[in-house]
Amino acid sequence: MPLPLGYPQPLEELIRSLRRLPGIGARTAERLALALLEWPEADLQALGQSLSTLRARLHPCTQCGNLADTPLCLICANPQRQTELICVVETAAQIPVIERCGSFRGLYHVLGGRLAPLDHRGPEQLRLAELHQRLAAGNVREVILATSSDVEGEATAAYLAMDLQRPGLIISRIASGVPVGADIGFADPATIAIALRARRNLG
Ligand SMILES: [Zn+2]
Repeated sequence: MPLPLGYPQPLEELIRSLRRLPGIGARTAERLALALLEWPEADLQALGQSLSTLRARLHPCTQCGNLADTPLCLICANPQRQTELICVVETAAQIPVIERCGSFRGLYHVLGGRLAPLDHRGPEQLRLAELHQRLAAGNVREVILATSSDVEGEATAAYLAMDLQRPGLIISRIASGVPVGADIGFADPATIAIALRARRNLG
């Protein structure tokens, strides 16, 4: 879509980049770009530095796959967390959504996607071996499946419920307080808290 006003190239490039962000329309992108232009030089440099080093400074947590800048993420490294409880999510972006509800004190496991047979995404592309390793290692009492409530999310949960079965392990599924088809990333903290509390046992 063409931009409404003829901005000089550097501004136009910035506006185009900002518009790629979720929830940012043409007007907002313009306003943000013009606001950045007013920032002190040092602040702009710091922002540029944050952006250009972002990927290099982050890596997946060696235990759960969450985003981290140390070998273990802040959640895995926290001795207050309940290590016998693992909440399985599709992406690291879903972790802060669940954290915000404040009622989950266990650990996480990031699958790195979900099953999508039509897109040729099978179980071998998910971080399942790592999850099996964690279960084999010890004291996990319950795995909560918090994949989305749409078709692919449900299919992934159904597969995991079978695949993860082992004696003494409770496998549960968060209640679908999240509207059907909605990504868990868009649910509000209260909905997530209810969905976690009302989780049902899958065996
Ligand atoms: Zn972690």
